[in-house]
Amino acid sequence: MTTSVKPDRDHLPFHEPTNPALVDSHAHLELEPLCDNPGSVVARAAAVGVVAVVTVGIDLEDAQRALGIADRFESVFACVGFHPHNAKDCDSGTLEAMQRLAGHPKVKGYGEIGLDFFRNRSPRDRQLAAFVDQLSLAQALGKPVVIHLRDAYDEGLRMLERAAPFPAGGVIHCFSGDRDDAQRALDLGFHISIPGTVTYKKNDLLRGIVRTLPDDRILLETDAPFLPPEPFRGKDNEPAYIVHTARKVAEVRQVSLERIAQITTTNAKKLFGLPI
Ligand SMILES: [Zn+2]
Ligand SMILES: [Zn+2]
Repeated sequence: MTTSVKPDRDHLPFHEPTNPALVDSHAHLELEPLCDNPGSVVARAAAVGVVAVVTVGIDLEDAQRALGIADRFESVFACVGFHPHNAKDCDSGTLEAMQRLAGHPKVKGYGEIGLDFFRNRSPRDRQLAAFVDQLSLAQALGKPVVIHLRDAYDEGLRMLERAAPFPAGGVIHCFSGDRDDAQRALDLGFHISIPGTVTYKKNDLLRGIVRTLPDDRILLETDAPFLPPEPFRGKDNEPAYIVHTARKVAEVRQVSLERIAQITTTNAKKLFGLPI
């Protein structure tokens, strides 16, 4: 009689990545549904080689939740700030509270801040005011800025150009601008973060930009639970899926996955000062 030995998953090392080390530079682990079980989300990401996730808190309550998750997991770091959708909540009192949260040792950047003229969930004047105030707060804190721009690239970049320089650097997250916008961001010394939309069939514009970005300015992100890459469109996104975005970026730039992982992980480490 032969006894078949069942592989015991419990005895596998926790980190058994099949891919090179990747960083998800922008996700929302504190939002539904990811916050329901952040432990398994983080474990699934680690299993495919994700060595760090930056989770981004978008208002006071959300930022506190993001920090709670960053505190629980060594590989999770946070950014905090009033998202343009929540600009209406940003006043001197709440900004002071956000500044206190930003002092937490796991907060590695300030944001996401910016302008969203697509959804306009906060009035435009409040978005503009919150953006200006938070840019100067981030500069005073010496933190890199995480910028969200949607249907507002020209206005947003103009405000950044007026507020420059940014010695701690910054990133335009979930980049959706054109070539000229990308160049303006690079001229500001910023990084450009590529989301899962680079895998979408129609997105030749973004792929064209990805092809020409300098090695030292490119980051990868999921923006989970939003914007899942192919083949997960229609589902909730999560950090483990960043591998698909990385593969597409490697293909577009005609380099290996290892090379893309190496440059984007180095860039994320450097920009956010990640101790990984
Ligand atoms: Zn965003
Ligand atoms: Zn986001």
